Amino acid sequence: MPRDLGVVIVGAGFGGIAAAIELRRHGFSDVTILEAGPDLGGTWLHNTYPGCACDVPSHLYSFSFAQRRDWSRLCSPQPEILSYLRDVARDHGVERLVETGRTVTSCAWDDERRRWTVETEEGPSYEAAAVVIATGQLHEPHLPRVEGADAFAGHTFHSARWDHGYDLRGKRVAVIGTGASAVQFVPEIAEEAAHVTVFQRTGNWFLPRKNHAFPRPVRWAIEHVPGVQAFRRRFMFLYCEALTMAIRHPRTLGRVLGARSAAFMRWQLRDPELRAKVWPDYTFGCKRVLFSSYFLPALQRPDVELVTDAIAGMAADGVVTASGRLHEVDCVVYGTGFRASDFMFPMRVAGAGGRDLADVWADGAHAHLGMTVPGFPSLFIMYGPNTNTSGGSIITYLEAQAGYLRQALEHVRVRDAAAIDVRPEVEAAADLELQARFAGTAWTRCHSWYRDDDAGGRIVANWPGYMTEYLDATRTVDPTEFRFVPHEAPVPLGDTVK
Ligand code: NAP
Repeated sequence: MPRDLGVVIVGAGFGGIAAAIELRRHGFSDVTILEAGPDLGGTWLHNTYPGCACDVPSHLYSFSFAQRRDWSRLCSPQPEILSYLRDVARDHGVERLVETGRTVTSCAWDDERRRWTVETEEGPSYEAAAVVIATGQLHEPHLPRVEGADAFAGHTFHSARWDHGYDLRGKRVAVIGTGASAVQFVPEIAEEAAHVTVFQRTGNWFLPRKNHAFPRPVRWAIEHVPGVQAFRRRFMFLYCEALTMAIRHPRTLGRVLGARSAAFMRWQLRDPELRAKVWPDYTFGCKRVLFSSYFLPALQRPDVELVTDAIAGMAADGVVTASGRLHEVDCVVYGTGFRASDFMFPMRVAGAGGRDLADVWADGAHAHLGMTVPGFPSLFIMYGPNTNTSGGSIITYLEAQAGYLRQALEHVRVRDAAAIDVRPEVEAAADLELQARFAGTAWTRCHSWYRDDDAGGRIVANWPGYMTEYLDATRTVDPTEFRFVPHEAPVPLGDTVK
């Protein structure tokens, strides 16, 4: 019998749960999921802001092996998605593998013992033959340094850590940021707050999304008519691929979709002054296109003001802009996104020879197919570098990654090796090819969170192609792209077992 490989998965969001299900299904019985939060769910546990939903339709934003026919609407709200993930984890027997309240501080490869040691802030440490880091790109809230923020006497919180104990009714609220999160919560809080001031640094391109609950006949058809569900999923997949095509081809299809977006925005923004303030000054698709039919109308409410003057700092009673104007508010909500290019940090990851992943990534994160890094044996990253999608469903990528890492570990198992390590030349060549594929795409035409400012603006978040291409690239692990680390200590890392 081959040895069972102990696998520690860090993070119990969609990625971690997908990996655990895949590994368990293929006979890896020793799987532990460490989760810093109080429950599984990842981003869908932490993001509970009013109006929180996924703008990717649920028929696609769900596992292929766990399709549901009873979604309430096209794009499900956060509680429905969280409950779906919990159900899937329970139904596949991986819920009980989750250890909550375990904040992983470091993962270190031991060259002698050829195993990983995983340490947690809470104390317990774990040993494993393989580690899967499934913390995602969007887990560490980004709080910009605003001059005088400490002096602000009011209340503040980040959208990904919504303070439900703070009653916004009757309050004057400042919202900093106008990204995918803010466009969902601004229309909701505008209903409650006395006044909302929205601080926009850069405008966005919008496409409509009303997201009403499915009418009863539609719901019935999805549930009972064979093929309707599968057709919807396929249709959404192709729609998303078309969006990616528009981003990849900004001069042709991008112009067409951009014109559609512009027409929608013109129709929604009747006031030319506001329209000019909102209008994006970059190519359609460079930043994430926002799907909302409610945000732009919310900006036109008498109790909502859009401010495009740059934020200069904060005073005790509000936000001060570059023109010197003080916007008096009781509360500041940061809709300022995440430290995406930091990936799993502040967690320390040390590979062979004690090499720190932070050093390896000093010039920007990179990994083979977003998952493996040379010198970090049997370490797999889910939703790692260059695997974000601006036009698809991240679940598609995560499922592909779960299958890929499982296959890689099967190769380790059948060879009775200690670990698998991607060849540096393979990773480097693939990375060059990947980065070259961004040339001419909309992603290169503005500044966005897809880039790493500390790495000369290298695009580190996004996959440059289609979902189909990623599925093809990850369908089968090619063992010749890797070296297998044997168990015996004297053999230097890099020698092949067979
Ligand atoms: P985001 O898209 O990164 O937006 C952050 C916003 O804050 C931007 O408008 C940004 O302006 C602004 N900002 C950041 N730092 C600032 C500063 N120092 N001063 C002023 N403004 C500042 O963050 P997010 O809205 O939380 O969304 C992050 C990602 O999460 C999305 O792109 C998406 O992938 C995912 N998400 C998905 C959904 C969904 O429905 N699927 C919903 C929410 C989030 P600039 O544009 O000028 O940088």
